[in-house]
Amino acid sequence: MDQVMALVTNAPSGGAISRRVTITGEPGDILLKPLYTGICGTDRGIIAGKLPFAYNPVGYDFLVLGHESICSVVESDVSGFKAGDLVVPMVRRPGKCLNCAAGRQDNCSDGDKHEAGITGKHGFMREQFRESSRYVVRVGDSSLSRTGVLTEPTKNVMKLFEVFSVISGRSIYPTPDYSFQGKHAWIIGTGSEGFLFSFMAREQGFDTFMTNRHSVDEGRLGIMDQFGINFVDYSRDFDTAVKDIDLLIDTSGDPTTILRFTQRVRQNGIVFLFGTNGRAPDGAMSGVMVDHLVEKNITIAGSVDGAKRHYEQAVSYISKWTHEHPRAMSALITNEEPASSVDPFKRGNSNGIKTIISWK
Ligand SMILES: [Zn+2]
Repeated sequence: MDQVMALVTNAPSGGAISRRVTITGEPGDILLKPLYTGICGTDRGIIAGKLPFAYNPVGYDFLVLGHESICSVVESDVSGFKAGDLVVPMVRRPGKCLNCAAGRQDNCSDGDKHEAGITGKHGFMREQFRESSRYVVRVGDSSLSRTGVLTEPTKNVMKLFEVFSVISGRSIYPTPDYSFQGKHAWIIGTGSEGFLFSFMAREQGFDTFMTNRHSVDEGRLGIMDQFGINFVDYSRDFDTAVKDIDLLIDTSGDPTTILRFTQRVRQNGIVFLFGTNGRAPDGAMSGVMVDHLVEKNITIAGSVDGAKRHYEQAVSYISKWTHEHPRAMSALITNEEPASSVDPFKRGNSNGIKTIISWK
């Protein structure tokens, strides 16, 4: 393949530069061009050199960044895809374990999988790349050429709610009419992933609360309002406002915060850990907390990534949400930067929700 412009790092030491790269020998029966790529905390962590598990592909002294994208097909050697189709490439490529062999590299049991832009596979922040159609998800709704960049983070949501449905089946979890009406879902964190979890909690019928340890801007409150989501600043209101949690989803990765909210989870409740922060201070679990978990049948579960069907479900829900709440979905994308600039990475702590890079 010819040289292409790419945003690259040197994993795991970090950094981010825009430069021309030549990448040969990547398997793939379709050629893709990103329209947009998204930036998330993982990208910022890699660039800052804070994620020691990141590594360059074999034979390269760099790693092309990026695992969130919405792409257009440039050319296809397989039926089912044609030039101009919208698609989203998956992040993980299977290793050799049984879960990977079954297409469930999201549940990889030995860590031998690879992740685009993170562990040993070049990512999607480049002008074009070849990809195997097996790992490409079709986006049939042509109006998703921008919000479709949220497919990758949304597939995490779809998997987590599938695991939720398995766990919640262990007791009579729903209300007597077998809906989740009147049940309370709390989502810790007000970043893009927190919003996507909250949207799905609303879809399931939960009374849904997003929470953070500070107030949030009008933009965030406006999105919550359109989806019927409540907001609680728990630095002011913890004792009175935080109670009767049936489903708790954490995107912060902070043990102390997680344990504090878990105290307010009620019988047969479920706590999902999604956010990760290896640098967070330790949180201490008390004997009272152990009693609380045991006596109330509370389950704590971790969930990461998603399978191809979760990407497909994500596309369906993004389509639904983009049509039902177009302003809110558009407002999730607070920053758009041209691919010619690597500056977006430097504004990591701005107050925005989702930054995307335009490759058009
Ligand atoms: Zn595996």
